[in-house]
Amino acid sequence: MLWLVMTTGKCNLKCDYCGGSFPANVVPYGVKYDINLLKRLVENDMESTIIFYGGEPLLNYKFIMTVLDNVRAKRYGIQTNGIAVRLLPEKYWRKINVALLSIDGREETTDKHRGKGIYKAVLRSAKYLKDLGVETIARMAVTQDTDIFADVMHLIDLGLFDKVHWQLDVIWSEEWDFKSWSFSYLHGIKRLTEYFLSELRKGRVVKIIPILGVISAHFFEGYKGSPCGAGYSSVTVTPDGRILSCPIAVREKWAELGNVNLGYRLLEDPLPDDCKRCEFKRYCGGRCLYAQKERYWGDEGFKVVDEVNKEYLRTVLSIIPEIEKLIRDGNIRLSDLYYNPLLDSTEIIP
Ligand code: SF4
Ligand code: SF4
Repeated sequence: MLWLVMTTGKCNLKCDYCGGSFPANVVPYGVKYDINLLKRLVENDMESTIIFYGGEPLLNYKFIMTVLDNVRAKRYGIQTNGIAVRLLPEKYWRKINVALLSIDGREETTDKHRGKGIYKAVLRSAKYLKDLGVETIARMAVTQDTDIFADVMHLIDLGLFDKVHWQLDVIWSEEWDFKSWSFSYLHGIKRLTEYFLSELRKGRVVKIIPILGVISAHFFEGYKGSPCGAGYSSVTVTPDGRILSCPIAVREKWAELGNVNLGYRLLEDPLPDDCKRCEFKRYCGGRCLYAQKERYWGDEGFKVVDEVNKEYLRTVLSIIPEIEKLIRDGNIRLSDLYYNPLLDSTEIIP
């Protein structure tokens, strides 16, 4: 199972789609529970991945060190904005398997939303971590300023990231004209899918997660709920010891599954009712549980995003027949197409 361990609600940036720190009374800036309670829960799980999460998790690097020293997990990772990587001593970075670094693509796309100089700082951190042997994932927030093809290709071409993933800035922030923008987005998805396929023909699997994760769900097990695992194979532990289904839902009662003192109960049927008869449910799992529940853009806004989501899925799935042929012809091995989002804390579906 995936354990998103929040170390603090504080952040050292104020990116415009997120707004920065949580109020301390919602997500405290330090951990308030006894670490042995976390240890007991995690060590009972034979397939545990711990991903440090925030706020900006490195602002409480001391807690990260304590967990790395005391709580045994199969895999460790962190979701960070990449600004303060030097706070955590090198010895501890060497224990971390994967780092997801927030970067939105080209310099102008990144710095416009995250702040001047952030792009360069993240690249320095990516290089530093890669040199230490940490796997790096570029984690993009996609807005109306994104050219999905240009920005993803830019990150791939840098050669500093092992995988690229993105999330659409939709439904959880202020509504924008997503529908008009989506035409160019879907065109970019087509080009990325063609690029992915052309590399497969050469025997190379490019780790573009929103493409690879869908292909993997076709050939291997599909997703029974949100591919991030929210509430059924992933939980979030807040600094005050609550156990949530989703790390964004820090104020929402529906997200509470328990706490570190008393334990927790996973969701038994995480697929939303509206998705039960959808032809894409195996690949999509209802997309984001938080968006399903909160619907900040209303039902209409939700529907627009859903239509775009379906079109993206159609595009990616259209290359399945050719992939089957490449497997038969021995260009690629089926096992190279397997991807498990729980090991990286990615959501597959943007
Ligand atoms: S495409 Fe839409 S309806 Fe279908 S499973 Fe995903 S969220 Fe549900
Ligand atoms: S994809 Fe949605 S449900 Fe999953 S962790 Fe992100 S916000 Fe939560």
